[in-house]
Amino acid sequence: MCKSNLRQSANLIYGSYIAFFACVVLISSGAIAQSIPDNEVSAFELAQLTVQPGEQVSGEIPVSSGTASNPEASFIPVTITHGPKPGPVLALIAGIHGSEYAPIMAMQGLPELIDPASLSGTLIVVHVANMPAFQGRTIYFGPGDLKNLNRSFPGVADGTITERIAYTLTHQVMMRSDYLIDIHAGDGNEKLRPSYSAYYAEAGGETVVQESRRIAVAFGLDTIVQFAGSYDSAEDAIYTSAQAVTLGIPAMDVESGELARTDGAYVDPIIAGVLSVLRELNMIAGEPDLPPNPLFISDRARVYSEHNGIWRADPLVQSGDYVSAGTRLGVITDYFGNELETITAPASGILLILFGTPPVNEGDNIVVIGRVLSSRDN
Ligand SMILES: [Zn+2]
Repeated sequence: MCKSNLRQSANLIYGSYIAFFACVVLISSGAIAQSIPDNEVSAFELAQLTVQPGEQVSGEIPVSSGTASNPEASFIPVTITHGPKPGPVLALIAGIHGSEYAPIMAMQGLPELIDPASLSGTLIVVHVANMPAFQGRTIYFGPGDLKNLNRSFPGVADGTITERIAYTLTHQVMMRSDYLIDIHAGDGNEKLRPSYSAYYAEAGGETVVQESRRIAVAFGLDTIVQFAGSYDSAEDAIYTSAQAVTLGIPAMDVESGELARTDGAYVDPIIAGVLSVLRELNMIAGEPDLPPNPLFISDRARVYSEHNGIWRADPLVQSGDYVSAGTRLGVITDYFGNELETITAPASGILLILFGTPPVNEGDNIVVIGRVLSSRDN
């Protein structure tokens, strides 16, 4: 829980005590007791936005311009729903990668499903975290500084535009939250196993791990990746959710969507998952849709390209397939069609990510395979 919410909780407890005391005085003096709200929630303020309890407000968080030599400014569009009842602050971030569209489209449809009058706590929806990459239609990197926002946390106040976006997200969104969900898809060039979630199974301390796992399971998807490792400091935690858990904020990732597509098959599980987490956290009424038997993946094998050239995925292989070590996944050719390398599966498991478009560059991560744990290992 962040400091602001500890303060809010303290105020609520204090308010309840005062209300109780006032009632006792009124009743004992024979006066007619008036109803005094004992759970008063104050307005939620973020950047220049003020959201009263029971309101939903959309607006922009400005990303200030940096140094004179690098003056690009930007903004982050958000919708904040602030309930009249106390509860946690949950932040949803879409568009860390600007060409991962299914999460962005899910965030378009989500706010109207949330009734501000009955919400407990506060929901922050970041519609498009990386506006330069979205407007520039770039994959992985921002078009101006060629930096990956999901490798740029905690950010730099006067750094490049991507570093300043990371800094703004860290300070204006992450540090205001009690839980965080960072929502991704296969990028514009990536085929992805349909819809899985992930969380850090070792970072942030026991409580953060437990709570991160809690929301990752409550999201309801049947496959859950457990990220390994932890971070010595926030400076080392360059990924969005790694930064969050290192700051003590339970967090999870979602992957739903691929190849810049916006089909309902990719968008709908995101919306359903968020609603399920809101129920798990008692922010809205109802029970979460827990997966009956989720599959945990804690070990991933990767293939990186050693060539610049053209990628041809094998037509017999689809993302989401179970493959054996040695299964042929595709071929890299030079620009004239001459084969440079046949790419095979480095391990047996689920094909989580596979490049789906022709350009391939040296160092690109063209294949990710999730090794499957037995239930004993969980
Ligand atoms: Zn991404």
